[in-house]
Amino acid sequence: MDTKVFLQNLKDRGYEVSSFATKEEAAEYLDKTIDQMSVGMASSVTLDELGLYEKLRTHNTVWWHWCIPDGMSDREVRFKERGTSIYISSVNGAAISGELVNIDNTGNRVAEIAYGHDKVYLVLGRNKLAEDLEKAVERARNVAAPKNVKRMNRTGTPCAFSDHCFDCKSAERICRILMVLWEKPRGAQYEVIYIDEDLGY
Ligand code: SF4
Repeated sequence: MDTKVFLQNLKDRGYEVSSFATKEEAAEYLDKTIDQMSVGMASSVTLDELGLYEKLRTHNTVWWHWCIPDGMSDREVRFKERGTSIYISSVNGAAISGELVNIDNTGNRVAEIAYGHDKVYLVLGRNKLAEDLEKAVERARNVAAPKNVKRMNRTGTPCAFSDHCFDCKSAERICRILMVLWEKPRGAQYEVIYIDEDLGY
């Protein structure tokens, strides 16, 4: 995959772009850049691997439903994520041509990426890259989603026991919304953080 072409295509689609060799460098950059802000974070193994929540919460107000404070519910924390200045997510697939793909279950992640924050950071490792949009969607469906199913132990779905999507009708299905960012959405800043390592699903 030609990373330079990918990063240039993102710029041409309106994104700020920062590129790092390692997740430690990317985490340090975000930790220095985001200070004294309100921050919401999406479900993301990539963000977890960067240790972002632990770093940012020491000098920001951070809401992440993977770390629910005592006395609050998952739903309450997700709503807190909605009103923040900064939102941070990963993506499930990225086309070299610059389209960014996410599949969501509850819908909070794609809603937050699309609207309502001053700035959105989209953090991704090199393993998310695909040759074109079709392959990026295919990756999101057949790589990211089945891995997330296994992480969430959704044993009522067929992909819990396989490595591809069956377009199931299970009540435990996690794939309910497909989002493709063709271009940077209007009305907010968006910065793509590209890391030259395999991260997340
Ligand atoms: S649609 Fe069903 S089978 Fe396909 S990845 Fe999602 S949960 Fe798995």
